[in-house]
Amino acid sequence: PTVASVLRRGYTEFAHLPAVVDASGTTTTYAELGRDARLLVTGLRNLGAVQGDRIVVLTKNRPECFTLDHALAIGGFVRVALSYRLHPKEIADIVADAGARIVVVDGERAGEIAGAVGADVTLVNFDGDGPGVPYGSLFGGEEAEPAEVSPADIAWMPYTSGTSGRPKGVIHTHHSLLSIIRNVLVELPGLGDRDVLVHTAPLTHLSGYAMLAGFTRGARQIALGRFEPAEYLRVVEKHRATVLPLVPTMINMLLPVLEAGEADVSSVHTVLYGGSPIAPDRLARAIKLFGPVFVQSYGLTEMPWSSWLSKPDHVFDPDGELPARLGSAGRVSPFIEMRLVTPGGRLAEDGEEGEIQLRGDARMAGYWNLPDETAAAILDGGWVATGDVGRLSEGYLHVVDRKKDMIVSGGFNVYPAEVENAIYTVPGVAEVAVVGIPDERWGETVHAVVVPRGGATVTQDEIDRACLRAIAAYKRPRSVEFVSELPKTGTGKIMRRAVKERYWQGRA
Ligand code: AMP
Ligand code: MG
Repeated sequence: PTVASVLRRGYTEFAHLPAVVDASGTTTTYAELGRDARLLVTGLRNLGAVQGDRIVVLTKNRPECFTLDHALAIGGFVRVALSYRLHPKEIADIVADAGARIVVVDGERAGEIAGAVGADVTLVNFDGDGPGVPYGSLFGGEEAEPAEVSPADIAWMPYTSGTSGRPKGVIHTHHSLLSIIRNVLVELPGLGDRDVLVHTAPLTHLSGYAMLAGFTRGARQIALGRFEPAEYLRVVEKHRATVLPLVPTMINMLLPVLEAGEADVSSVHTVLYGGSPIAPDRLARAIKLFGPVFVQSYGLTEMPWSSWLSKPDHVFDPDGELPARLGSAGRVSPFIEMRLVTPGGRLAEDGEEGEIQLRGDARMAGYWNLPDETAAAILDGGWVATGDVGRLSEGYLHVVDRKKDMIVSGGFNVYPAEVENAIYTVPGVAEVAVVGIPDERWGETVHAVVVPRGGATVTQDEIDRACLRAIAAYKRPRSVEFVSELPKTGTGKIMRRAVKERYWQGRA
């Protein structure tokens, strides 16, 4: 099977069931979704697209994304969905790198993108205003015969989030993408036609895989373009949503609204989250509000959804200590092999830290047009070098941090994530990034950049005490800075590297 064949099956298998619900409550059935996707394939072919072409998508979540994603899959086109927050220059570079000739874009960004990409690129504009071919005009033809797609064909080519280095196109074939969907489905037993998924995390990233999983099972799906906690919870309530894919920063932002008792989330049976670490303290608060509905995954664009902290793992005694597994990313999927490799190159013992390496058929085929980077990322034997440091404890994978973010202070290693977790226990802290800053004597010292919660005041002393309670004294920040905002990637990950760069400008 291919992603294309599985999606096509749904058009008849679930023909009369609702597939997509838009903001106004209008429903599109699976049969209608299939028809629209075929019309859109014709529209794209009329613009000159042929099978295998990379088509760039730059949009906030919106219901049209569902139709477009179906059309791209069944038409045999490669979906290159970009983070909405990229700069026009970065987008133009990616369009050129991917050799894309069609870019589908939100009206809001059409003008600047039109100015940034080459004249040979055709813009399709989701909205009526601004430059580009209106999206609606692509539906005027006949329903297309879908393409003959094989498992080795490229289905999706996301670009890595760019918290490090320049963006690389990550090749996922219909085979690897379907394997990823399988790994998701295994962790969402019972997902079916009574389920309602609300996508507010970008469909370009983790939510995209959850979306495909939902469509293989006859679920109905809603796309929300921006994340505003109260508004989001109203949609969840109104549509009796059951499955919420979220990133940790969003869960964090929902806490005050939920704690104020302003939303009914009783319909939700699954909150699927991952993509970056979550402070155990925040997670515990979220579990108290939502109940034991959480499912966490660790993975990376090159090999997403690799380990799973399942629902039963999230159950804990609210009066007791937080179990250590709440700070972990769970157990490795049965369909994925993992090994931890020490800096010396041997396999880590239980409890010992090492680089997380993964293999399995959910792995990317390689980076687009980058043989050297591909060889560096996929080692002999097919192992993906993740660049993350991890440790196993009782079968649970603890993602310690990114290898590159480790701070070396006076010869001691400090991983920012554990310092951040300690700081997150201070109630007035909304967000924090811990980085190493230059220091004559120690090489670097630990520095915390803290965003206080609206209206709250936080002192360095509180932070100090919270750290002394949780981690070795030498790991606590020597200096603390308070800011109103931290730089984030399009998927809401705090970009430590961007925070750090400010202190290292003009140095090696
Ligand atoms: P990306 O390639 O943009 O998807 O980023 C992948 C990176 O995010 C991984 O290499 C990890 O550093 C981090 N990450 C993803 N999921 C988790 C998780 N559940 N816990 C901790 N870190 C995570
Ligand atoms: Mg990455």
